[in-house]
Amino acid sequence: MIGGGFGGLDVCKSLRRAQRAGRVQLTLVDKENFFQFNPLLPEVATGAVETRHIVYPLRAFCGPRGIRFIRNKVRAIHAETRTLSLHNGLSLQYDQLVIAAGASTNWFNIPGAEAHAFPFKSLMDAIRLRAHVVEMWELADQAEDPEVRRQLLTFVVAGGGITGVEVCASLMEMFQRTMVRLYPNVPASLVSVHLIEAGERLLGGLQEAHARVAEGHLRSVGVKVFLHRKVAQVDKGRVTLDDGAVIPAHTLVWTTGIRGPALDSPWPWPLGRAGRLKVDEHGRVDDGVWAVGDAADWADEQGRPVPQVAQGAFQTARIVCHNLLAESEGKPKKTLRYKDLGYIVGLGRHSTVASVMGLPISGSLAWYFWAFYYLFAMVGFRKQVEVATDVFKGLFVLHDTSQIHERRRMLRAEDLDPELGAEAQRPLPPR
Ligand SMILES: Cc1cc2nc3c(=O)[nH]c(=O)nc-3n(C[C@H](O)[C@H](O)[C@H](O)COP(=O)(O)OP(=O)(O)OC[C@H]3O[C@@H](n4cnc5c(N)ncnc54)[C@H](O)[C@@H]3O)c2cc1C
Repeated sequence: MIGGGFGGLDVCKSLRRAQRAGRVQLTLVDKENFFQFNPLLPEVATGAVETRHIVYPLRAFCGPRGIRFIRNKVRAIHAETRTLSLHNGLSLQYDQLVIAAGASTNWFNIPGAEAHAFPFKSLMDAIRLRAHVVEMWELADQAEDPEVRRQLLTFVVAGGGITGVEVCASLMEMFQRTMVRLYPNVPASLVSVHLIEAGERLLGGLQEAHARVAEGHLRSVGVKVFLHRKVAQVDKGRVTLDDGAVIPAHTLVWTTGIRGPALDSPWPWPLGRAGRLKVDEHGRVDDGVWAVGDAADWADEQGRPVPQVAQGAFQTARIVCHNLLAESEGKPKKTLRYKDLGYIVGLGRHSTVASVMGLPISGSLAWYFWAFYYLFAMVGFRKQVEVATDVFKGLFVLHDTSQIHERRRMLRAEDLDPELGAEAQRPLPPR
């Protein structure tokens, strides 16, 4: 199996009985040696939850279950010989392959985006963003030119889906609770967070009432929400929108969308929507090859696309495990009847919107639900305790602003250009 994320681990769990009965032997290959709990990445990026608390070592998951774990990156798949090429020239033979390699950032070919924006998919992305955000405050503390300061303290988030909304809410909470206290020399009036969304509302695909609550909440904490706008170009220190407006900023967080996973070599099969692997109604890509979760272009029984969320990964993983075993025994295979169990959008302390089995909840009640649900969903008791401690502690203490990242990769004071900020000051009329 490729990938030890939500889908991959669920495949391991679902094949447990067959594995115990000696019917299957499992090998998991992942380029990282840990599982990461993505829903808490915004909290990690803002120092509300400790970095290591949202990851679980894959060897500790695999060892007790008798699963062979290989920490390596799959570079190419040779379908005709049923072989995976790994890094360092190694190769691995398979009988059946389940691809659970997740997704990659979709830059939509926007000029400069990949070079200058911050992707927000991995733990490293969250660590990098936290270090960069803190660096902006450090430089702003030392800068004298107000335009340079304003540019340093302007944070742009592209994409008003769940992740973009959560990142904005988390950044604002960090700034208002922690940064303004730690940086008394930095005028709070210069700080701004812009959320740019191409659609007509935030949280497209979720309940409209929740989109309104989320937008109202973000606006009430000072986030500038711009709808019907797209990022058209990104340059060092400036973000240009499709209507020509320029936002002078050194921080653009890219949460606009995802595409299928990428190997070093092209996939040996045709790809579906957004570069995801095409699967049939049973999750089969090819003879002996299956795909689950974000990596696959799945549709349910009624032809509706399966969303790229954790429950999509769980449900496709379970069907694939059933079908993989059924096929080997000549039994009938199943199609996916996708059940939408709901969603949770964290908007900061005591503010959340959620839909639980279609029932909308918001406010403090939803926040407690958010906290308990995530604790329950964490892999491993130790991680549950650690995250619980962080969430509880967060009610009383400031965010952790330690910059744990290579400094040589950060923006430096000498990179700042006062002209850039002044020249590009064009107010954005709201739409
Ligand atoms: C910031 C963020 C917040 C999110 N919040 C939520 C949320 O609140 N609720 C929700 O339901 N969903 C959320 N999601 C989406 C959810 O995380 C994904 O839908 C889910 O992780 C998909 O599971 P997966 O197993 O397909 O992929 P992943 O969980 O991404 O796992 C893919 C695995 O494959 C490995 N891999 C990739 N390529 C290779 C390779 N070439 N070789 C070896 N290993 C490889 C990766 O290292 C990774 O471990 C969020 C996602 C992000 C990024």
